[in-house]
Amino acid sequence: MKFLGKSIIGRRIVALVLVSLTLSIVTLTASFLWFQLRDSIDARRAGVEATGYVFASAIADDVAVGNKQAVFNALRSIRRVPDVRLVIATDASGQEVASLGVAAILQSDVIDENTGWLSSLNRGWFPVITEIVKSGATVGRLVIVTDVSSLRMQVIHAALVTLLVAFAAGSLGIAAAIRLQKRITGPLAALTGAMIHIRNARDYSTSVKHASDDETGVLVDTFNEMMVEIGNRDQTLKHLAYFDTLTGLANRQAFQGHLETILSASDGGTGSALFLLDLDEFKAVNDSYGHFAGDTLLAEVAARFKVEGNENLFLVRLGGDEFAVVARGIATEGEAQTTIAPLIASLLRTFDILGRQIAIGASAGVVLIPRDGTTPVDLLRRADLALYQAKREGRGRVHFYRPWLDEDMQFRTALAQDLRSAIDANQLEAHYQPQVNLHTGEVDGFESLLRWKHPVHGYVAPAKFIPIAESNGLICDLGNWVLRESCRQARIWIDQGMPIKQISVNVSVTQFKQPSFHREVEDILLETRLPPRVLCLELTESLFAGSSLAWVRDMLEALKGLGIKLAIDDFGTGYSSLSYLHSLPFDELKIDRAFVGDIATDEAKLRLLRGMVELGHALDMTVVAEGAETAEEVAVLVQLGADHIQGYYFSRPLAASEILQMVDTIRNRHQKIFERHAKSKGRA
Ligand code: C2E
Ligand code: MG
Ligand code: MG
Repeated sequence: MKFLGKSIIGRRIVALVLVSLTLSIVTLTASFLWFQLRDSIDARRAGVEATGYVFASAIADDVAVGNKQAVFNALRSIRRVPDVRLVIATDASGQEVASLGVAAILQSDVIDENTGWLSSLNRGWFPVITEIVKSGATVGRLVIVTDVSSLRMQVIHAALVTLLVAFAAGSLGIAAAIRLQKRITGPLAALTGAMIHIRNARDYSTSVKHASDDETGVLVDTFNEMMVEIGNRDQTLKHLAYFDTLTGLANRQAFQGHLETILSASDGGTGSALFLLDLDEFKAVNDSYGHFAGDTLLAEVAARFKVEGNENLFLVRLGGDEFAVVARGIATEGEAQTTIAPLIASLLRTFDILGRQIAIGASAGVVLIPRDGTTPVDLLRRADLALYQAKREGRGRVHFYRPWLDEDMQFRTALAQDLRSAIDANQLEAHYQPQVNLHTGEVDGFESLLRWKHPVHGYVAPAKFIPIAESNGLICDLGNWVLRESCRQARIWIDQGMPIKQISVNVSVTQFKQPSFHREVEDILLETRLPPRVLCLELTESLFAGSSLAWVRDMLEALKGLGIKLAIDDFGTGYSSLSYLHSLPFDELKIDRAFVGDIATDEAKLRLLRGMVELGHALDMTVVAEGAETAEEVAVLVQLGADHIQGYYFSRPLAASEILQMVDTIRNRHQKIFERHAKSKGRA
């Protein structure tokens, strides 16, 4: 581990061990020597003192009488005591009586007996002074100077030995300290290295080897566990970033990346196709059964897509009910059709969602790469246009991108702009299509149909501009305008003496859902002085999608409270549920023209239509058949017992100014039909 040499903690540990070891040894040895030397000098001093007492009493008589020779002789015995360098005997006045030894060691005449042991050691000798006493009186002093320089040598030796021992112990200590610091700082160094690596490489799979069971081991283990946890979270985050949590399919982010990868490949993505899929009427499912059911359905749809998927298909949920598929190995539109067909077909079986059988389909828009684009932005926009067109043409369709879709979109965008000023610019007109009573042959009323006379494009069909108005919120203004205009016109006809029984006006769901709608109707009736019974509001079955039945019923009842009539329009194309249709206050059932066309030749359709007419009557409603274009169709409808017909056979929608004449024409030209009807009723 190279780290050892760089480890600051490691060096500090070694230094710490070294300093503390050396300090301990030096301190211990110094204290030991200190006490040892002090004791030795004290013991030596005690011995010399004892000798001094003995000799002081021995020479007391001789000192008292001044017998120098005798004193000198006695001093010679003391001199034999080891290490005694000098012996001096003085009389009471301090005069030397006799001395023996190296007098030069005395640097002054004054001998301080109280020298500390340290200074004794420093000087190399110490004096011991004993009073010479005779018969209780001091007759002199005996000074014995003892050499302790050998002890000094001992100290130097001991100090040297101590240094050697300290050095040896220090070396051993360093060796031990290095081992110790390796144990402590090894894992720390490994952790530091690992963290630097993670910081630089963002590699969360890094782990450190477990080295010991002490705290550093715990640290390493905890670090490894944290890394596993971070790794797992990293995985989860990556998954969340690139996968849709509800369906498990790739999400928009992953889709974008995938598309860019394909397009930036050397072949530029040639031979790939992008499909955008959108579930048909998914909103209705969400609104009717709740978001949980909606989510469950989306997950089930994705599961079916996965079953049909293969390694060449990249399946994506873009959000909501929008899916995308990027497919490889597709050269022609035919191959694209074959690829997407199983996915769409997989939705044909109904879904069992929370105990309900739910049917759902999908529409798709397709672009081929590189034919329809080479950038993600272009491809997505064009696939979106193709999808929009698929939806417009009816549900469950696959539409390929065509360049005219761009122009169409531009046209519609411009139209949406122009529509904003259409009311103020007086470009709107109401046209009226007669509703002929099959029992009397009379024109009982008219359906008012909105027309937009565009300054450049001429008359624009409602099928083109009503959806635009629905999406940009203008529908309420348009709806109010047509309602006011129709009531105003009906009042004029009544005032002109025309026996008009009904004026039917289409109401969009958005308009109907305005909380103030029924008050606006009331205001318009008051303002135009139209008897309420003449007005019939046509509502489509889409009313039931996304609203609670109770709320719809309350709104319908409020309108009925004004005294007007209510019709259910385009019956058979939407969501009517027979279970609650009978409980709602509708007066009229308008059968959509899809069920009327071809009835003269199509037996099955005829049976269906008969059922619908009977159903309308069973629900106590007046039955109006829309879209009868031929005499045969009219004849069949007469036979089936429909009450009214509104169709091109009698008249197309006309401007108000043409209506009076048309009413006469119908009355005169089609009498026979009504006579037949009367006869058939008579037979029944
Ligand atoms: P709708 O309410 O079902 O109106 C009947 C449509 O069928 C009218 O189309 C009418 O011209 C057409 N029609 C009637 N008889 C025949 C026939 O024999 N053959 C054929 N081929 N068509 C026939 P139009 O006027 O184009 O209106 C289309 C739809 O636009 C209407 O269907 C209605 O849903 C909507 N619409 C029209 N005016 C208004 C309006 O003022 N407000 C709202 N919200 N929607 C309107
Ligand atoms: Mg209508
Ligand atoms: Mg209709």
